Amino acid sequence: MKGTFPIEKFGALQTPFYYYDATLLRNTLKTIQEEAGKYNKFCVHYAVKANANPKVLGIIRESGLGVDCVSGGEIKAAVKAGFPASKIVYAGVGKTDWEINLGLDYDIFCFNVESIPELEVINELAAAKNKIARVAFRINPDVGAHTHANITTGLAENKFGISMADMNRVIDLALEMKHVKFVGLHFHIGSQILDMGDFVALCNRINELQEQLYARQIIVEHINVGGGLGIDYAHPNRQPIPDFAGYFATYHKHLRLRPQQTLHFELGRSVVAQCGSLITRVTYVKQGTNKQFAIVDAGMSDLIRPALYQAYHKIENVSSEEPMETYDVVGPICESSDVFGKAIDMNRTKRGDFLAIRSAGAYGEIMASVYNCRELPKGFLSEEIL
Ligand SMILES: *Cc1c(COP(=O)(O)O)cnc(C)c1O
Repeated sequence: MKGTFPIEKFGALQTPFYYYDATLLRNTLKTIQEEAGKYNKFCVHYAVKANANPKVLGIIRESGLGVDCVSGGEIKAAVKAGFPASKIVYAGVGKTDWEINLGLDYDIFCFNVESIPELEVINELAAAKNKIARVAFRINPDVGAHTHANITTGLAENKFGISMADMNRVIDLALEMKHVKFVGLHFHIGSQILDMGDFVALCNRINELQEQLYARQIIVEHINVGGGLGIDYAHPNRQPIPDFAGYFATYHKHLRLRPQQTLHFELGRSVVAQCGSLITRVTYVKQGTNKQFAIVDAGMSDLIRPALYQAYHKIENVSSEEPMETYDVVGPICESSDVFGKAIDMNRTKRGDFLAIRSAGAYGEIMASVYNCRELPKGFLSEEIL
């Protein structure tokens, strides 16, 4: 089964472009709010780095989610889209002074601090403004996620977070500082996680750390478990809305929250991936020695995930109902890795057909570059072009 696209409207638009199904996005957000809402004190933030298209951000803001930012630029984008600063959390291993100052000026909800030097700088910069910064510590839980090596973040070997052995020391430091307030613990173990057992492992680790703190009579107000819930790239239509019910239930069942604690989530991919497709036109069909190529007008500059992580995206010819044939779908860029898929079965394809590269709403448009002096792709909501 193919997705449904208004291809009669696509002719007027310059390809390649990102197409966002606004109805699916709204339904996804509604499901998240309903499922998280079943539990007292579950609070969901959207990870802006997955997609910061202003129109997409606008819809997400209407749903009432908070945001997770990883740069000053993302804080600006979130504020511009209308998210209240009181719902912004800010993570990142390399926050610069201007970025910290921006967060202080907006009085964001929390800095997720990843090292002692960073804590010291936040304390100094907050002192200069006579403010008190709320801080949570990002602890590296040394929990592996069964996903691509480039997108695991919670192993001791990764650059992220503070080691568990240092947790008590950084908390003691923060408690002595006058311009920071220690409010929580933060974790994020990776992305595109489909095995709920990985989240269970994180819960067990947090339970252990909480016991250690409890023994010292410390109960943090906020626990933040990051994001990472994966989606079905192979079958974008089978379950276009990920299993949020199962995801939140896993945390409810395995994490021992104290009554006064709020549990925060930072979901990116699972919110926006399935609503987006990269729409591209076939420029040429070329017969190679043993295969045929569909050469399209989108390239790795528009969607880099296949080249960067060998990521799979389902590709459909949405203009053709002819019998299936096999193609390598490639872009025009002068790199051998500029390939969207090898040996892809698609309806017989000709020059001018529209292809939809599916599940591209997350880490797609936002990662686009101008490599080869190409223009950045535009993004359109379904409701704009109907
Ligand atoms: C990237 C990131 C997320 C979102 O991850 P997804 O896999 O897209 O849900 C959440 N929190 C932090 C700190 C991140 O860096």
